[in-house]
Amino acid sequence: MYPAAFEYFSPRTVDEALELLTQYGDEAKILAGGQSLLPMMKLRIASPRYLIDVNRIEALTGLRRAGDRLVMGALCRHADVAASPLVREHLPLMLDAANLTADVQVRNRGTVAGSLAHADPAGDWPAALMALDTNVTIAGPHGIHTTPLDEFIVDAYTTQLGANEMVTEVSVLIPQPPCGGAYVKFEKRAGDFAVASVGVQIALDGARCRSVAVSLGALGAMPIRARAAEELLQGQNVSPDRLGDAERLVREAAHPFEDTRGSVDYKRHLAGVLFRRAFAAAMDRALVGSR
Ligand SMILES: Cc1cc2nc3c(=O)[nH]c(=O)nc-3n(C[C@H](O)[C@H](O)[C@H](O)COP(=O)(O)OP(=O)(O)OC[C@H]3O[C@@H](n4cnc5c(N)ncnc54)[C@H](O)[C@@H]3O)c2cc1C
Repeated sequence: MYPAAFEYFSPRTVDEALELLTQYGDEAKILAGGQSLLPMMKLRIASPRYLIDVNRIEALTGLRRAGDRLVMGALCRHADVAASPLVREHLPLMLDAANLTADVQVRNRGTVAGSLAHADPAGDWPAALMALDTNVTIAGPHGIHTTPLDEFIVDAYTTQLGANEMVTEVSVLIPQPPCGGAYVKFEKRAGDFAVASVGVQIALDGARCRSVAVSLGALGAMPIRARAAEELLQGQNVSPDRLGDAERLVREAAHPFEDTRGSVDYKRHLAGVLFRRAFAAAMDRALVGSR
């Protein structure tokens, strides 16, 4: 199917893009990788009258270290994350997420910022980055501000972004070693959206967990932090009994919907299984780093 007719703009600067957003407001959409927006336009789920293609804005490209944070421009693609030595060394959880998102073609075009702005409940980046200290930088007619990811996403497919605002950067705190993280996903077919996914980020103090973050994807309208499970593990040596209790708390934190990917009970069960897998992988990585 063809999309409805639209007018196309290709600004070269963020200011130009913001001017267009201010001029056309609700009737305009930013086009980044187009991997969510274009299918929606073809299905006529979205029919923006004005399309603002930001792909020629040089200032939005790249992935770099700035102090203790990894900063991704709004045009940083899933494949850029997968290829980054910085990510490979410090943020294996992100490497997992980049490699598990969709397929190679989609990863070469789709952006991390676009995934967050789209806020699909089954999206990999919203779920994975929720386990890390992630900020989203938003530019609008009144300037730039930064907001934590857990405040940026407010519901399924809904964010804090106003009609005349855009994301310019996404940044993640680089965790202090010894630490490790992992993101695991269960999908019905390779390259598909998650039936359920779990991210775990652990920091160690000797054999104890100095801090633990657990995020759940496709297990609610938006990504969930399993806070009760985190608190149970925080500051503790992790025994099999404690891990079993944490798994129960993770299942309780999940609020999945029944759909073609599975029933509520099945997805809750998966939440526990994936938590175990992600925890074991994150712990292995943390222990390797602590040797
Ligand atoms: C076959 C296929 C399989 C897929 N599988 C998966 C999967 O397994 N896991 C997964 O997570 N995703 C999957 N996706 C979605 C894909 O990962 C998209 O890349 C991603 O969701 C959106 O990024 P994008 O850059 O393509 O955004 P676009 O499609 O360009 O935009 C998406 C939305 O975000 C807005 N937007 C984009 N950038 C900005 C910005 N800088 N500021 C403000 N708003 C912005 C757009 O206006 C639009 O509303 C799949 C897509 C396809 C086509």
